[in-house]
Amino acid sequence: MIANYLIESADGLILIETGPETTFTHLQAAIEREGFDWRDVKHVLLTHIHFDHAGAAWKFAQNNAKIYVNPVGLPHLNNPEKLWNSAKRIYKDDMEPLWGKMEPIDINLLVPLNDGEDKVIGGIKFTTWYTPGHAIHHNAYQFGSVVFTGDAAGVRINNGPVVPPCPPPDINLEEWKKSIEKIKNLNPELLYLAHFGPVDLPTKHLSNLENMLDDWAAWIKPYYESHTPAEEITPKFVEYTRNQLREMDVPEPDIVKYEKANPTYMSVTGLLRYWKLKEEGRI
Ligand SMILES: [Zn+2]
Repeated sequence: MIANYLIESADGLILIETGPETTFTHLQAAIEREGFDWRDVKHVLLTHIHFDHAGAAWKFAQNNAKIYVNPVGLPHLNNPEKLWNSAKRIYKDDMEPLWGKMEPIDINLLVPLNDGEDKVIGGIKFTTWYTPGHAIHHNAYQFGSVVFTGDAAGVRINNGPVVPPCPPPDINLEEWKKSIEKIKNLNPELLYLAHFGPVDLPTKHLSNLENMLDDWAAWIKPYYESHTPAEEITPKFVEYTRNQLREMDVPEPDIVKYEKANPTYMSVTGLLRYWKLKEEGRI
């Protein structure tokens, strides 16, 4: 469900996203299968600090790798307690089986990356693009004509349709659409999604994402307005999104994968919160 990317540089390996701590040994083995040693990962680029992207970053930091992240997310990696406790409220007893542990990262190893910033690592240049909407601490990273998009360019399994991951607490449609536009304007040849893999028609993909985001948000809105509890909305939204995928010829096993990569109950909570903040004038 979670793609990590490895780039060779003159200054060691660059890893994009780490996945959670629970899949760390799997990642180690995958790096070895490619003929490398995980201890040679010297630079870790995180698109954002959600556990499925950044949960194992501290393991690489313990091996002295530098961890690059948006400045809004940076303090939470140095002191993950607050992040952990707020996620625990959502995941409850599933917290540790899903995400494992998260330990603090030494502040000296954390490198903030800001919008438009160019950086060179081991002779390889890349540019950071701040891309909020899915999360307020979200960056995308452009290497030449390819962009590593984290969750800003959505979730797509096995060349199926793209869907927007909408977990709480940061979902912001207006910001997300600006981020989609920003990525489009880079005219990339390829996008590399975290869930899952490369996308070779970026403009079409990003337009589809925007449409789906509007569709999902519009579906949730009347339930927000009628104060329907999330527990009542979720089974209905599961039905709605499953039928959407079926209508787009997604095979049943992949529908299960979509649900794992992007749980429906999370999107219900995230989109309800979006409409609430919007009504309160906080967005
Ligand atoms: Zn995320």
